[in-house]
Amino acid sequence: MDRCKHVGRLRLAPDHSILNPQKWHCVDCNTSESIWACLGCAHVACGRYIEEHALQHFQQQHHPLAMEVNELYVFCYLCDDYVLNDNATGDLKLLRSTLSAIQSQRYEVTTRSGRTLRSALLAPPMMLSCHQGPASCS
Ligand SMILES: [Zn+2]
Ligand SMILES: [Zn+2]
Ligand SMILES: [Zn+2]
Repeated sequence: MDRCKHVGRLRLAPDHSILNPQKWHCVDCNTSESIWACLGCAHVACGRYIEEHALQHFQQQHHPLAMEVNELYVFCYLCDDYVLNDNATGDLKLLRSTLSAIQSQRYEVTTRSGRTLRSALLAPPMMLSCHQGPASCS
């Protein structure tokens, strides 16, 4: 497989839907199965095994990169293949570790109070700006 050349500098907004599990529903059909988050804007939509609304978003907006929010696969519609490489600053790796943290927090907080849930959801976007990894980020 060739390297995907479309993985540029990621500029995810701190309020991007990918960072909020409560927004992991397709904006078109509202399914929570096979959810792909656009890495070019805050769009989230379902994948090819549901109704392919993520593909429709690419056809309309030409944002080639999307990440599956649960499996953390990155797909490039221009390459028509999964992306195995990263960009120079390692943004995809960082995003994956951020999402892994969100997912583990999400399981933890199901038995806790809503206050804990909110503070857990507020933490991850801060980590995105730290390129040394979550452990050294304070
Ligand atoms: Zn590509
Ligand atoms: Zn959909
Ligand atoms: Zn987009």
